[in-house]
Amino acid sequence: MKTLIVALQKDGKLASATYELIEVAKRLNSEIYTAILSDNTDTLASDLAERGGGKVLAVSDPNLKFFNDEIYTNVITELIEKYSPDLVLGLATFYGKSLFARLAARNGGPMASDITGIAMNDSNITVTRPSYGGAVVSEIVKNSDKPFFVTVRPKIFPESKDGTGEIIAETVAATGVAVGTTVKEVKVESSGSVNLAEADIIVSAGRGLKAAENLQMIKDLAKVTKGAFGASRAIVDAGWTEYSNQVGQTGKTVNPKLYFAIGISGAIQHIVGMRTSGTIVAINKDKDAPIFNLANYGIIGDAFEIVPALTAKLKAELG
Ligand SMILES: Cc1cc2nc3c(=O)[nH]c(=O)nc-3n(C[C@H](O)[C@H](O)[C@H](O)COP(=O)(O)OP(=O)(O)OC[C@H]3O[C@@H](n4cnc5c(N)ncnc54)[C@H](O)[C@@H]3O)c2cc1C
Repeated sequence: MKTLIVALQKDGKLASATYELIEVAKRLNSEIYTAILSDNTDTLASDLAERGGGKVLAVSDPNLKFFNDEIYTNVITELIEKYSPDLVLGLATFYGKSLFARLAARNGGPMASDITGIAMNDSNITVTRPSYGGAVVSEIVKNSDKPFFVTVRPKIFPESKDGTGEIIAETVAATGVAVGTTVKEVKVESSGSVNLAEADIIVSAGRGLKAAENLQMIKDLAKVTKGAFGASRAIVDAGWTEYSNQVGQTGKTVNPKLYFAIGISGAIQHIVGMRTSGTIVAINKDKDAPIFNLANYGIIGDAFEIVPALTAKLKAELG
């Protein structure tokens, strides 16, 4: 079986969860191919090869500097036609989901997004994915001769640490084909902060924080724990923070080792985005808040007293 991993870069850097995709491909005992597209793939391709990316198909072209659904779909489709993979793997990130929907449609293959499990059953690829906010876990079996397009939820599988690889510089005609859109510049919304999807620790704030200026207290705790700052939709809608920080049904699905929910009631739409976190700590002054039904540790009290004390204590302990 052949697996093609699509490794996406942003600002010339790979998402660390990319190495999780390599681990998945290794576990399936498949012949591994990894596509990397950028204006200059030299460093990225070597990195992927050292982590066990197999045949690393490196496509360097100025048109590939920024992610562009249309161009990326054209280029990867050309690689699919050349190498005929059975499985095409990507990450269930905003870019990954967008690209894979297009790839599946273009290549006529089946698609499963945001999977949390994968195995070979009687030489059929079988994936599992949570639906309806985790209430149902579906098992999906590939039943097609076309490649199976699968996006994997970050932080479910361990990273591939090492392995072998061979870099193949690919020249792909599709890079030069005009498409309807051009990405001229990408501006990062929250520069310097840890990416939510990849964070091991997330410290999230909700409406219990009362006002935008009080979020600094939560960001300080996130900084001390080297975690990412997250938010409920209530405070995104109120304009206290950017949408990119939102966790939940209409925000990001996250899977950190440790999740703090501070001043968050625990509405189902928030919970579906973070319920698989390793350990959940809730701080809420309402003892009946639904978040306590999910939390591993619950602190009933005023966030304005608890959070600064916790931050000071952790700062003293962690430096
Ligand atoms: C279609 C749809 C999609 C949605 N998508 C999302 C989504 O992606 N993500 C999301 O989060 N929500 C989403 N929502 C909204 C969701 O239903 C809730 O309204 C929202 O999660 C509530 O945010 P919250 O917990 O911050 O606020 P609230 O529900 O108002 O809770 C605030 C909490 O703070 C506590 N509190 C108050 N003062 C303090 C204090 N001093 N110290 C400690 N605790 C205190 C209160 O006891 C309360 O529990 C969606 C809703 C719909 C209809």
